[in-house]
Amino acid sequence: MTVHPNDPVLPEARMHVVLPGAPVVAHIASSESCIRGKSASFVRHIEINLEGTPLEGTFLAGQSFGVVVPGVDAKGRPHKVRLYSVASPSYGEDGFGRIISTTCKRTIEEIPDENDPVRSDGHPLILGVCSNWLCDRSIGNEIPVSGPNGKRFVLPIDHSAHDYIFMATGTGIAPFRGMIHELLVGPPVGSPAHARWLGPCTSKIHLVMGAPYRTDLLYDDFFRTLAEKYPQFHYHPVISREPLPQPGHGPHTHHYVETRLNFFKPLLESNRTLIYACGLAGMQIGIFKALAIAGLGGPFLTVHEEIAAIPPTQWTTEQIKRRVRPTHRCMLEVY
Ligand SMILES: Cc1cc2nc3c(=O)[nH]c(=O)nc-3n(C[C@H](O)[C@H](O)[C@H](O)COP(=O)(O)OP(=O)(O)OC[C@H]3O[C@@H](n4cnc5c(N)ncnc54)[C@H](O)[C@@H]3O)c2cc1C
Repeated sequence: MTVHPNDPVLPEARMHVVLPGAPVVAHIASSESCIRGKSASFVRHIEINLEGTPLEGTFLAGQSFGVVVPGVDAKGRPHKVRLYSVASPSYGEDGFGRIISTTCKRTIEEIPDENDPVRSDGHPLILGVCSNWLCDRSIGNEIPVSGPNGKRFVLPIDHSAHDYIFMATGTGIAPFRGMIHELLVGPPVGSPAHARWLGPCTSKIHLVMGAPYRTDLLYDDFFRTLAEKYPQFHYHPVISREPLPQPGHGPHTHHYVETRLNFFKPLLESNRTLIYACGLAGMQIGIFKALAIAGLGGPFLTVHEEIAAIPPTQWTTEQIKRRVRPTHRCMLEVY
């Protein structure tokens, strides 16, 4: 990967302290809905108590952890591990690193299958194994966890050395709840982490949160309250499927940045700025293309020579997937 000036210096993240083959038992500390209103999707903010396990104090904001549902799948094999992004700051919800959280969306789909007697007969419902199991747990229930996972999608050691553009779709907001908490709110008073805290970060922080409908916005009150309190923090909710005054649908996150380029340009041109994008696989395609078309991709993207001569307006999705890579100043977590 090409190294650019002002690449972030990242902390040494601990990884794989507990492997999915031998998960440790943690406990549900709380579970509550975190959507803004009544919505077609169901998303919960779930807090998990790691006390007494080797995972205590190991997670950095932006990393993920594994959940291994007990029992076996339809083929009689143990359930495979599923990863969930940590939605808590590096000091945890409690300031001691004992309680981590995540933002879990119930996977609910209808997928008819001609070869399945039930699903071909008007009952095509598929309930995701792990997300629904996790959302069904109550306070005190046991949950087998592993991790931490991931080492690149974390905040730099020196928070104030950079400005930040965070772009999220759906549960991709999880790591940004933790990171923005860490940048602005800080650990609870009286916790060991609070004694080391330097106070709110004064860097520019922009959060662009994409959701299909206003009711799907996650942690909306939390971010609105922070935006009112901290002038350096800007919250940009972007709604894609509600009708606009003019015909057509609303924007996606990258369209939003594109149409407000005059506003974001100075930030994208600054050598302090880091971009973090998290959410649905494919969200990076539009972001990469918009950056390249605007001539602002240089510090954030490495473009393979095979497509370097092609104008970015003509890049295909396949070319972007295979031939454009984020640099150290553009962190990506998609699933
Ligand atoms: C790094 C990372 C971080 C993540 N962070 C989060 C997070 O913060 N929050 C979050 O909610 N998710 C997150 N995920 C996604 C999460 O790991 C799971 O993939 C997700 O919860 C779905 O798992 P599940 O067990 O509920 O669904 P599964 O049972 O694994 O099903 C997933 C999909 O497989 C298909 N499928 C399953 N069974 C069938 C069948 N019988 N026939 C046909 N198709 C079928 C369906 O399309 C279904 O939707 C993350 C993933 C990664 C890799």
